[in-house]
Amino acid sequence: MRTKILTTLLVLGLFVISGVDAAQVKTNIKKQSFGKTADGTPVDLHILTNRTGAETAITNYGGIVVWLKVPDRKGNLGDVVLGYDSLDGYRNDKAYLGALIGRYGNRIAHGKFILDGITYTLPQNNGENTLHGGIKGFNKQVWQAEEIPGPNGPALRLHYVSKDGEEGFPGNLSVQVIYTWTDQNELKIEYSATTDKDTVLNLTQHSYFNLAGAGSGDVLQHQVTLHSDHFTVIDSTLIPTGEIRSVQGTPFDFRTPVAIGARIDDNDQQLKYGIGYDHNWVLESGRSDAPFLAAQAYDPHSGRTLKVWTTEPGIQFYSGNFLDGIRGKAGKIYNRRDAFCLETQHYPDSPNHPNFPSTVLKPGEHYHSITVYKFSVQ
Ligand code: BGC
Repeated sequence: MRTKILTTLLVLGLFVISGVDAAQVKTNIKKQSFGKTADGTPVDLHILTNRTGAETAITNYGGIVVWLKVPDRKGNLGDVVLGYDSLDGYRNDKAYLGALIGRYGNRIAHGKFILDGITYTLPQNNGENTLHGGIKGFNKQVWQAEEIPGPNGPALRLHYVSKDGEEGFPGNLSVQVIYTWTDQNELKIEYSATTDKDTVLNLTQHSYFNLAGAGSGDVLQHQVTLHSDHFTVIDSTLIPTGEIRSVQGTPFDFRTPVAIGARIDDNDQQLKYGIGYDHNWVLESGRSDAPFLAAQAYDPHSGRTLKVWTTEPGIQFYSGNFLDGIRGKAGKIYNRRDAFCLETQHYPDSPNHPNFPSTVLKPGEHYHSITVYKFSVQ
């Protein structure tokens, strides 16, 4: 009896010393089948639950975040990302819902760039331009997945090798993405890559957020803050003209919180080209080694807040203008402006703009980039 009490005390003591409490025990990763690709490759869904009970599900098909359930002001969990119920939805998807994007997130003009004197030609999958890595970008590839029960919360390591010439890009590129779902309701995304030939690289994550809940209507009342003084001006095909314009006195000034819908239909040529917001904001701190606060979004109804930190020099704020009645999770329909994206990245079409921060990766260099999406309530 005495031994039993002593043992119990010892075990409790160890728990206290190691900082493990009963709630933390709930942290876990569950793996389940998510179906098969067209060529029969099995794909999984990894469900990451943190110690608060908030959870995210990520598939190794395209590294897609399938759901992300976080509490509202009353403590009720709600799924705040758009997506599909099954793999088929993602296989047929054209809106990049929740996916990892590569090799080049955003647009490359006319599907062409010159590197080391060689002209590279890419598939033109967005009018005359290349969008999000081409016809079969990283969002349609099967990644190798490894679950890592890390100290800051459950994590998933994804790895993909993109072959020299894939979608027209040079070099064998080895890419690793680690998603960590922390106990502070942060989705931390850490990208790394190496190449064996000079190439260009611009990785991002394409989750569509609706903080009131996916499929609950438009996001026009969400208040957005972008910590940026300038944006890159676009032409009618959404390619940067090269001009970097001050946001001062324009509908692009989000330096203090403004509802997405407040100025979205203003008579402004840039808004007309984007059919709303679909622009890259310049992050003044430039590329930094430690993530800095780039953007915030707040839904006054649910109280949910999203804050975005990044090491990237730009952020694409996209107000879901091209969502066109997609049938998503639980049969809900996603219409125009029913979600927004905050895609941390280098500027669009950088390979054709020597004055933009470089996206060139060379052999021997190590690409490293961090973005954190943190959810809380206000
Ligand atoms: C682009 C949009 C595009 C969307 C889905 C965003 O990153 O900026 O123009 O429609 O992705 O492809």
